[in-house]
Amino acid sequence: MDINKIWQKTLELLENEVSFITYQTWFLAMKPVKLTNDTFIFEVNDGFVKRTIDNKYLNLIQNALAQVINRNISITTYIKGNEPAQEESEQKSDLNEHNIRNLNGLTQKYRFDNFVVGSSNKLAYSAAVAVSEMPGEAYNPLFLYGGVGLGKTHLMNSIGNEALENTPNLNIAYISCENFMNELIEAIRTKKGAEFRSKYRKLDFLLIDDIQFISEKTQTQEEFFHTFNELTMNNKQIVISSDRPPSEIEQLADRLESRFQQGLVVDIKLPDFETRTAILQAKAKSLNYEIPDDVIQYIAQNIKSNIRELEGVLNRVIFYSKIYPGNITIDMAENAVEDILKMNKPKITIEYIQEIVAAHYGVSTDDLKGKTRTKKLALARQVSMYLCRKMLDINYKEIGRKFGNKDHSTVISAYNKIENLADEDEDIKNTLINLEKKINNQ
Ligand code: ADP
Ligand code: MG
Repeated sequence: MDINKIWQKTLELLENEVSFITYQTWFLAMKPVKLTNDTFIFEVNDGFVKRTIDNKYLNLIQNALAQVINRNISITTYIKGNEPAQEESEQKSDLNEHNIRNLNGLTQKYRFDNFVVGSSNKLAYSAAVAVSEMPGEAYNPLFLYGGVGLGKTHLMNSIGNEALENTPNLNIAYISCENFMNELIEAIRTKKGAEFRSKYRKLDFLLIDDIQFISEKTQTQEEFFHTFNELTMNNKQIVISSDRPPSEIEQLADRLESRFQQGLVVDIKLPDFETRTAILQAKAKSLNYEIPDDVIQYIAQNIKSNIRELEGVLNRVIFYSKIYPGNITIDMAENAVEDILKMNKPKITIEYIQEIVAAHYGVSTDDLKGKTRTKKLALARQVSMYLCRKMLDINYKEIGRKFGNKDHSTVISAYNKIENLADEDEDIKNTLINLEKKINNQ
């Protein structure tokens, strides 16, 4: 089958899974470009489409695709004009080789035996092993928390993979909280709530990642509460991860918070220098690369707060050594560290846009969220609302909330007003272009 046929068949499946609007807006906007052994590459026209697909629909598409071609492959999207450079696709294929997802959601490459244990993660690791060996008996739930890129997802998948190896017909599922919510919404929309419920309540083992996302999502909290009770009552294991402890998840129902605390809550801390070094050595070894000690140490000294970044630097150093054959040098490491730190600038958020726009107009972010309606303030407020809507995949209601609890209709009219203004007023148009550039460059 050629790729267009494959994609056509996949689309037919997807059409039944989502609303027509979703189907039309997002899936029909994807242009299949290339299908390799392990990756299907799509081109899209803009960042908004890319972000929405990447953040929301990858799993859904992957599952549909798996039904068409009978294997699991990953999906990559890029914005027209930004074809992935050779380098990126090379790195990707390195990464994707073992990164195969099953329909239970588990990523096979994340295993206990490639998880480096140090003082920062020893407790979490031991608890994870215990839970995978004695599901439902050791700690229930196991609640793992820690900062970005410190190994939560790796540990969660290791637990799942190990448990599955011990009990091959275990009914297990790994899902991110966000996808859990999306599935729930979709089930409600298509009147398949009962199926959704029974799917999760029949599990032997549930791993739910990044639960902090449940903050303020009352209906998802309600649903998860019942799933949680049903499973734990029957001694089925639940493992939860979060970027913060239960008590710090805002707008979390008390009854859920107390459920989260009832098993074992354990954190993953920042890795110390020795652990960072050991992770780099293990990773280099698994890739079959000889990296000099001083280079490893240089990287470990300079990247301290995120293991994903540590790996990113190592991949880059290896990439340099392919282009410039010869010894791997500290210089390469220096460049790689610089590149990765530059690349991993913080994500664009509503708060960030507010800051940039407020600075541009010489007002404060509190002013933007307030009610004062001087001409300058009103414009600054409307411009920031407009940019939030345009640059982020966030609905009007949520934007209104972050602007001092304003009604979504206020955001809509701000958006329309600025859009019209930009058409007729060259100054505004340029201001918007400049602000967008500033926000994107961070
Ligand atoms: P989180 O989910 O906490 O944001 P991840 O589990 O995605 O972080 O980890 C980020 C990257 O770092 C992954 O590629 C993972 O394999 C790697 N990693 C994290 N901790 C370790 C560890 N202790 N040993 C080996 N690799 C690790
Ligand atoms: Mg994670």
